[in-house]
Amino acid sequence: MLKSYSRKTLLSIAGATVTCLVVLLMVVQHQRIAVDGLHDREVGMRSLQSLSESPINDGAADDIFIAVKTTKKFHKSRLDLLLDTWISRNLQQTYIFTDGEDEELKKKIGSHVLNTNCSAAHSRQALSCKMAVEYDKFIESGKKWFCHVDDDNYVNVRTLIKLLSQYPHTQDMYIGKPSLDRPIEATERLADNKMRPVHFWFATGGAGFCVSHGLALKMSPWASGGHFMNTAEKIRLPDDCTIGYIIESILGVPLTRSNLFHSHLENLQQVSRSQVHKQITLSYGMFENKRNIISMKGAFSVEEDPSRFKSVHCLLYPDTPWCPPHVAY
Ligand code: UDP
Ligand code: MN
Repeated sequence: MLKSYSRKTLLSIAGATVTCLVVLLMVVQHQRIAVDGLHDREVGMRSLQSLSESPINDGAADDIFIAVKTTKKFHKSRLDLLLDTWISRNLQQTYIFTDGEDEELKKKIGSHVLNTNCSAAHSRQALSCKMAVEYDKFIESGKKWFCHVDDDNYVNVRTLIKLLSQYPHTQDMYIGKPSLDRPIEATERLADNKMRPVHFWFATGGAGFCVSHGLALKMSPWASGGHFMNTAEKIRLPDDCTIGYIIESILGVPLTRSNLFHSHLENLQQVSRSQVHKQITLSYGMFENKRNIISMKGAFSVEEDPSRFKSVHCLLYPDTPWCPPHVAY
C-alpha cells in the first residue's frame, strides 16, 4: 500500500516537473521571439551606443583609448563614414578630438567628442595642440594603451587588440609604422640659442600608432599640460614627429615596427587582397591625381564606396544591417 502510494507520489511529482519544464520552455521561447521581433524593428534605429556594446567589446577592448583627430570641416566628409563603420562598433574606446562645436555630433556620441578649442588649421602648432589634449585625456582615462589615428583611417579594433595583447602595457612600448626609410634629422633648440642635431625614428600619425601606459607616464614631463607644445617648438616638427622625439630621442625607447598600420603615404594597392582582414589600420587618399586606395572586390563598387571602408566594414562585420548579404570577396 505504502509502496504504491509512494510510487503514485513519485509519478505525480515527475509529471508536475515535466509540465513545469514544458511551460518554462514555452515561456522562454515566447520571450525569445518577442525579443527577436523587437530586435528586427529596432535594427534600423540602433544607436551607436548600443552597437558599441556588442560582445566583442568586452574585456581587452576597454583597455584601449583610441583618439581620432579631426577638424570641423571634415565632420561630414570624413567622420560620418567612420561613425557609420568602425566607430559604430567600438564607441566605448573611441574619442574624437576636434576643433569646433557640432550639436549633431554631440547628440550622436555625447562625451566621446571633445572640442579641443585648438585652432582649426593644418599648422604644426594646431596639430600639436590637439595631440596634447589627446595625451592628457588618455592619462585621465587610466586605460592601458593610447592609440592615435587620423580621420582618414579605418581601424580594425579586433586585430589592434590582438597585437597589443602580445605586449605588457606596463613596459615601454611605442608601436607603429615609420613613413621614412631612415631616421628623421632635426635640430633641437637648446637654451642660450644653442642647437644640437638629433635623429630618431617616428611612427607616422596618418597610419596610427600606440603607446603603452607605462611609457606614456614617462613622457609626462615633455607631453602633459602645455609641455607638448613647448617640446614641439623645440624641434619645429609636426605632432607625430614630436611623439617620436620624446620617446626615441629623449627617453631612448625604440619604435616597435608593425606592417599592419597603413597611411595614404604608401601605395595602398600593395595591401594584399587576401590579407585585408588582418590589417590594423587602412587609409585612403589621392596621389598624382589618382585614387590611392586598397584594392578589394567587396560589397560596394569604387563609385559607391571610394575609400573602400564600407566594403572593409562589411567584410569584418557582415551582420551590419546595411551590408548586402552573400558577398563574394
Ligand atoms: N586636420 C586638422 N586640421 C586641419 C586639417 C587637417 O586637424 O586644418 C587633421 C585631419 O582631420 C586629419 C589629419 O589632420 O586627421 C591629417 O590631415 P589630412 O589627412 O588632410 O592631411 P595629410 O597630412 O594626411 O596629408
Ligand atoms: Mn591624411
